[in-house]
Amino acid sequence: MSIVNTFAGGPLDRASERRTDADWLAAQLASPQSRVVPFFRMQPLVSPGGHAVGWLSTAEVAEFLAEQPHILLGLDEAGVAHFALDLSAVEDAPSLEPFRAAGRFMDLRAIALRLPAGDPATLATGKAMLDWHARHRFCAVCGNPTEMRMAGYMRKCLNADCNADHFPRTDPVVIMLAVRGDEALVGRQKTFPSGMYSALAGFVEPGETIEEAVRREILEEAGIRVGAVRYHSTQPWPWPSSLMIGCFADAETTEIQIDGQELEEARWVSRNLLAASYRGEPGTGVLLPPPMAIAHQLLKTFIEAQ
Ligand SMILES: [Zn+2]
Repeated sequence: MSIVNTFAGGPLDRASERRTDADWLAAQLASPQSRVVPFFRMQPLVSPGGHAVGWLSTAEVAEFLAEQPHILLGLDEAGVAHFALDLSAVEDAPSLEPFRAAGRFMDLRAIALRLPAGDPATLATGKAMLDWHARHRFCAVCGNPTEMRMAGYMRKCLNADCNADHFPRTDPVVIMLAVRGDEALVGRQKTFPSGMYSALAGFVEPGETIEEAVRREILEEAGIRVGAVRYHSTQPWPWPSSLMIGCFADAETTEIQIDGQELEEARWVSRNLLAASYRGEPGTGVLLPPPMAIAHQLLKTFIEAQ
């Protein structure tokens, strides 16, 4: 069975072949069937309890669609277009009142596990895309303003002498469990809740493979050398634009030496202890990351591999 991490498994057809069709896009934005989810300061509109996406009709947000950034999320099974709209630049509080009356703008991490399957992925796409636009209003080549194109999937430099195209970025992050027989290497950062341990992680650097990044990060952070690296699954993580690449790695050494910067502590923990913690038994001294995190899925897979 394939692993579907939270924020993966989006149900919409991204319709990339339609993004350059201005007439088609205009028709979708004018269609009463089309659906729009507003974001305010990168938080999506959801029902008051956070159990459903706060989809609105294009007519309900027409005045904002005319001026505020919006991107095409894709088409549902019935061919209905779905958009994400960024209201962050709307200073006028009264104009946001109708949305607040209908729902709440909430942090996606706080509600992801309450939403129906697939919706967290749709909102993650919207959040990542709108965040990218908010951070890339100027050309990285010449410094002139850029403008959204391709239904949001490109920005173009408006300086005719430059004309550079800019595309949304995704930053690969390796997140991994070094394993040695019945034990896995976990670490904790100072900012973690008390007792929580998780998989080690770090950004893939330019000129590096996923396997090389896994080996480098584990060596840097915990002083452990690893050999074979096995892929587990990936997870979009739109804070702001990461793709978490989950892996297992075979440890070749055992003595831990933490770098003292990224990690406060690293330790080997047994499968039995992790399993007890997973079952919620008291007294293990180890708290696992929440199910929304890919680290939770890595640990779960390790626990169940006995
Ligand atoms: Zn430029």
